[in-house]
Formats: sequence, structure tokens, C-alpha cells
Amino acid sequence: SKAKLFDEKTDMKVTFKDVAGLEGAKEEVQEIVDFLKNPEKYTSLGGKIPKGALLVGPPGTGKTLLAKAVAGEAKVPFFSLSGSDFVEMFVGVGASRVRDLFKQAKDKSPAIIFIDEIDAIGRARGKNNFTGSNDERENTLNQLLTEMDGFGTNTNVIVLAATNRADILDKALMRAGRFDRQIYVDLPDVRERKEIFEVHLRPIKNSESLDMEFLAKQTPGFSGADIANVCNEAALIAARKGKKAVDKQDFLDAVDRIVGGLEKKNKIIT
Ligand code: ATP
Repeated sequence: SKAKLFDEKTDMKVTFKDVAGLEGAKEEVQEIVDFLKNPEKYTSLGGKIPKGALLVGPPGTGKTLLAKAVAGEAKVPFFSLSGSDFVEMFVGVGASRVRDLFKQAKDKSPAIIFIDEIDAIGRARGKNNFTGSNDERENTLNQLLTEMDGFGTNTNVIVLAATNRADILDKALMRAGRFDRQIYVDLPDVRERKEIFEVHLRPIKNSESLDMEFLAKQTPGFSGADIANVCNEAALIAARKGKKAVDKQDFLDAVDRIVGGLEKKNKIIT
């Protein structure tokens, strides 16, 4: 059987209302939604629609979610792959996968291509990474650059890529006509954390007295992914105790558990 080349989703259910906070980033990607929905309006005066944008920010802050929401809002197919999938690939496979990805997206345009962890293929060239797989990575990167340069002005495929290490990316990726826009996706502040709790509490049976502002204040430094995790853990903790609804104490226990997990993870890294 043939290995799956990449993910293709044709009816994205994710929209901006699933993305809490991130007002600035949402405003910036709204423009991309408009380009996809109404390209002629933008090219009518001779302007060129951008081909790519880089979503930059710490892990778990909603970069993937935002990219999916762009496709969902524009009602276009979403093609995605992750840079880390290329790490252990045989010679030539990475470049051909990139070629196939762009071909499929062009066939179904307007479309979004999303490349997660682009730093895994897009690190500055010529720097030894001690893994011996540099040539293959460079081939993949070169193919990506070739594909983006090869887009006609009316292709109407927009490439979004995510990274938490924009500083190590090959500058060639950021050149005009490639990922020449950077959109910052930061950790949420207390107000945004409250909004993220609201989104993730939607499917959860919680006690009515639950104070989301309190929860937001208890979770400084948490990403959206951490908060999603807290809500899920809290529901499991309450269920284990046979409760009918998730209450404040379950959330505090879940926060403790997630904090414990984060501390462990940091210990391994440093
Ligand atoms: P990574 O860099 O680790 O790939 P990411 O920035 O792409 O992370 P996502 O994968 O989009 O983060 O986020 C993981 C999950 O966390 C989402 O599916 C969602 O459940 C939750 N989440 C993150 N940010 C938000 C947000 N702003 N609003 C609502 N949910 C969020």
C-alpha cells in the first residue's frame, strides 16, 4: 500500500469562532480569507496576491487551528503536512512529496496548504545539523522554493507555514513572493485565557457557578493547548469521582496536574 502523502480535508468545520483571542492574528488572516474568496477584486488593479504567510509563535498557541480556520472561513480545501515528517525520509521522497502536494492543491484551487514545523525543512542551508540528512533536507527546501516561485499570479493557492523558531529559518524563505508576511501568534494573556476556557468548556458539563475569570487567573503562562488539556482533565477527574458536573475543585486539580506535567517536560529539556 502506498504511504499517505499528506492530509487533505475538503470540508473544514473549523471557523474563527473556534479560535479564542488572537484578535490581531485573526485580523491579518481575514485578509487571506478575502483573497481566497474574491481574488479578482484584489488583482483588478494589477496587484499580486501574496503566496505565503508564516505563523510564528510558541507551541500550542493555535497556529494550526488558525490555519484550519482560514480554510474553513473561505470554504476551501486544506492540505497539510508537517516538516518533522521529512526528517527520516529516503533520498528524493521529500522533494516529490512537496511536488505532489502543490500539484493536488493547484488542481483543487482555491486552496490552503499548511506546513507545520517548517523549521524542520527550512533551517538555514549549509549549516551542519549532525544528522547526515542535510542533502535530503536541502532538496526538500529547494523544491518548496521552486514550487512557490512557480505559482502563476492566478493560481489562488496560499501557503501558510508555522514555526516557533523563525530566527533559524533560511532567509530565502522570507524573500518577496514567498513567506513575506509574518503573523505573530503569542501566548494568551489573562483575558484571552478566559475566552479560551469559554471555547473549551462548551462541550463540558460544568457547574453553573464556575468562574472562568478565576480559572484564567490560575493559569499564567498556559497556552491554548494547555487550557484545552485542563478542561479535558477536569472532566475526567470529576467523572472518576462520580460527579454529575465538573466543579471548581476539579479544575484546580487539573491545573495542578498540567503544571506538574509541564515541570517534568522542562526538566527533561534543560
Ligand atoms: P504547535 O506549534 O505545537 O503545533 P500550534 O500553535 O499549532 O501548536 P494548535 O495545534 O493549533 O497549536 O493548538 C492545539 C490545540 O489547542 C487546538 O486544537 C485547540 O484545541 C487548543 N487551542 C490552542 N490555541 C487556541 C485558541 N487560541 N483558541 C482555542 N483553542 C486553542
